[in-house]
Amino acid sequence: MTLTQKALAHATLYPLWLDNPAAPETCPHLVGAREADLLIVGGGFTGLWAAIIAKQRDPQREVVIIEAGKVAHGASGRPGGIVSTSVMHGLVNAERVFPKDIEMLEKLGIDNLDSWRETIESFGIDADLEWGGEMTVAVRKDDLPELRREHQLHMGHGHDVAWLDKAQVQAEVASPLFEAGIWSKERTGTVQPAKLAWGLKAAALSLGVTIYEHTPMEEVEDLGSKLRIRTHDGVITAPKVLFATNAWCAGHKKIKNYVVAMRDRVIATEPLSDEQLSRIGWTHRQGIYDTRTQLNYMRLTKDNRIVYGGRIGYYYGDKTDPEGDRKIEVYDRLAGYFFKTFPQLEDVKFSHAWSGPIDLTTRLAVHFQPYYGGKGVYAGGYSGFGVTASRFGARLGIEMLDDTGVPELDLGLANSLPRPIPREPFRWPGAAITMRALDEVDDKGGWRRAWVKMVHAMGFPL
Ligand SMILES: Cc1cc2nc3c(=O)[nH]c(=O)nc-3n(C[C@H](O)[C@H](O)[C@H](O)COP(=O)(O)OP(=O)(O)OC[C@H]3O[C@@H](n4cnc5c(N)ncnc54)[C@H](O)[C@@H]3O)c2cc1C
Repeated sequence: MTLTQKALAHATLYPLWLDNPAAPETCPHLVGAREADLLIVGGGFTGLWAAIIAKQRDPQREVVIIEAGKVAHGASGRPGGIVSTSVMHGLVNAERVFPKDIEMLEKLGIDNLDSWRETIESFGIDADLEWGGEMTVAVRKDDLPELRREHQLHMGHGHDVAWLDKAQVQAEVASPLFEAGIWSKERTGTVQPAKLAWGLKAAALSLGVTIYEHTPMEEVEDLGSKLRIRTHDGVITAPKVLFATNAWCAGHKKIKNYVVAMRDRVIATEPLSDEQLSRIGWTHRQGIYDTRTQLNYMRLTKDNRIVYGGRIGYYYGDKTDPEGDRKIEVYDRLAGYFFKTFPQLEDVKFSHAWSGPIDLTTRLAVHFQPYYGGKGVYAGGYSGFGVTASRFGARLGIEMLDDTGVPELDLGLANSLPRPIPREPFRWPGAAITMRALDEVDDKGGWRRAWVKMVHAMGFPL
């Protein structure tokens, strides 16, 4: 057995975050017919935030969530849980996509994060929030100029962000790969995402929102002034419907034209002893992203496990719960990167391995697709960066459905679409070659570099 096989041998193929006795009771599923003023399809962060915001604005309205499985069993119970301020997947991406709106997008990100935090605190949600900051680390000398540019961009926009040279980054977190880092200290950190989603569920219920779990939407019918949503055992009629369905793209057949369902993989170690933790330091407990082309991210949990993620994959036909990711071998390569990052932890075993759905778009950030004459809106496309941005996506979705005319609805982010992405049978071969190139480009270069460049030119900033 190899080192990685041994380390993964006893891992549970289930998200660490959901494997928790604090998981709440499941709400009953919908049977029969009912009406609502606002129906939200999807019980992840976007759906839960939308329900809370809508109900707080107008306590009289009937707000209903239907969730195909259980609350937080989609992406929201599976992420790395690194908390960021940006609603645009970071400042570099905001500059790439909407350079003219960057100041406004920055401000919206800050307001969103502050409201996110205030709401969590006001409902007394215990989600193991830690505010140690967010760090991007260069894993090759070649990545240093780009990291310097990113640092300057952040400084130029007034962020409290420190440049760490090799000695300084090693003093923070010891890894033979880390050449330098930038450490954002404000409004960033980590969260236990399932505990957050469960807390939001309790908050929504306390405000009078009705939640039906195990209630998949099966069909949408436009009645003119209302939409009729058929579920497995029931039917709901509502004048406004938010499709908060992430990579499932449920709500309209065209949503998929802009969204690819990727899988993102994660592994978690057993709790580290104080001695094991002392081998790496990490006393400030930052959430960390590295600059590998197949980006890796890592963080500590409250009980001092390392959660380590990255290495996305794609399955033919945009599968959102692929059989293939329920095999431990799929996590072997990720475990290999883990030991390259932290070779001083070769005695550590993994307790959990899982993957989750990513709603990838060429924009790498939320967008909105209105259908049925504006009575239904899809809000999604966070592309793996939605732990806090999902509150923003939810709010704008509600602004659209309520037709409030707030200035942010005039932004390109709100009223334009990302580039369309070819559907099957072209999607799979394109993704397969890209995944192979991404896996190998850092070590082997060659045709992989040219391919990655071409995909980049098509609008995916790899
Ligand atoms: C492995 C991984 C790591 C990530 N790491 C980070 C991170 O560190 N930081 C960060 O900011 N973001 C991260 N993200 C992204 C973040 O988790 C997501 O952007 C966010 O959770 C999206 O929330 P959502 O509510 O839009 O989607 P989801 O939580 O997926 O919710 C969508 C829900 O819709 C339901 N649904 C689908 N179809 C139907 C239907 N027909 N009827 C009823 N319900 C339906 C699904 O069951 C699901 O529960 C990560 C994501 C993954 C997968």
